[in-house]
Amino acid sequence: MKKLLLHVCCGPCAIYAAQKLREDYVVSLFFYNPNIYPAEEYYQRFAAVKKWAERAGLELIEGLFNQADWFKSVQGLEREPEGGARCPLCFQLRLNEACRYAQNNGFDAVASTLTSGRNKKAAIINPIGVQAASQHGLAFIEADWKKQGGQEQSCRLAKAEEMYRQHYCGCQFSLNR
Ligand code: SF4
Repeated sequence: MKKLLLHVCCGPCAIYAAQKLREDYVVSLFFYNPNIYPAEEYYQRFAAVKKWAERAGLELIEGLFNQADWFKSVQGLEREPEGGARCPLCFQLRLNEACRYAQNNGFDAVASTLTSGRNKKAAIINPIGVQAASQHGLAFIEADWKKQGGQEQSCRLAKAEEMYRQHYCGCQFSLNR
């Protein structure tokens, strides 16, 4: 089976996507989310993914928590709403890093859990993933994980795992909005 690196934004978004991808690939999880604010929230989301990954027998790789680089990448777009002009840059930073890691570590393909989010548009995320992957000589597995019952399945699986579920997208600017 081919090796796939799954960029994971959080546990509830990952649980169904990983289950589906494991049917066709050897999946490793890549938690790279320097957008998450504050740091306590980052560690809480990471801990939830780690606990589930251990139970599910999935390799988990933690990327850098380089918040300063993330803030720099979205500079000037702080006042944009969730779903506005800041978000594609946020996706781009995270997916580029996932593809860079995948290329350097012998993976065949990359995917992302980002399209699991209710407010996340697959039509924006998938082309960013395809471009990042092709720049690194990899395939990007396009998906909209919330479709075809995916959202309901994710909720059910996360609930069964008693997984931590956040109430905002992640960055400082999406907090309390
Ligand atoms: S709202 Fe979410 S996707 Fe958009 S920039 Fe903030 S963390 Fe990234």
